[in-house]
Amino acid sequence: MKEKINLLNIIITAMIGSGVSLFIDFVWSKPFLSTITYVVIALFNVLTESAKLVLKVLVMDIKVWVLLLLVLIVKAVKLVINILNTTTSNEDKKQAFEIYTEDRLKNWRWTWNWVKSGGNWSVRDLKPYCPVCDSTLLEHKNMVMGEYSVECPKCSFVRRYVNDERPDKITQMIIDIAKNMHNEALD
Ligand SMILES: [Zn+2]
Repeated sequence: MKEKINLLNIIITAMIGSGVSLFIDFVWSKPFLSTITYVVIALFNVLTESAKLVLKVLVMDIKVWVLLLLVLIVKAVKLVINILNTTTSNEDKKQAFEIYTEDRLKNWRWTWNWVKSGGNWSVRDLKPYCPVCDSTLLEHKNMVMGEYSVECPKCSFVRRYVNDERPDKITQMIIDIAKNMHNEALD
């Protein structure tokens, strides 16, 4: 059985082989057919070369893309670094300016907060402190006399504001000092 199959294989192979060689001989014996074969082979070669070229261009394009992408990444990183630097320096300036919330002006200590509204910074919650016990002084305004006075709730220190101790004057002094620390608009 096995031998029979082997024999059959040999016969078929031989037949195909002779068939193929007969066909080739036939093709080459006919000038027209051999021309077509040449054309087919030439076309095949052209297609192969084209495919290779396309592949080369694609590879080159990929290189160009990688290069462009790298350039873009570098630019993006530089931009982020610049933004971070600008933000940090702005914050530094702001901090240097905003931490100035306490000073000893005229006869006692003052504290205040900085508030930004409409692009301008202004002094809020200005408080004088008792020169004797450092408690927050209470301010009184005499509506009739138009006078300000301060009183310590703890040690009973009382004083009428002298002209240059008035809160509006102290505020202006604070703003002038702050202007030397920061260039942003101040009220
Ligand atoms: Zn006091």
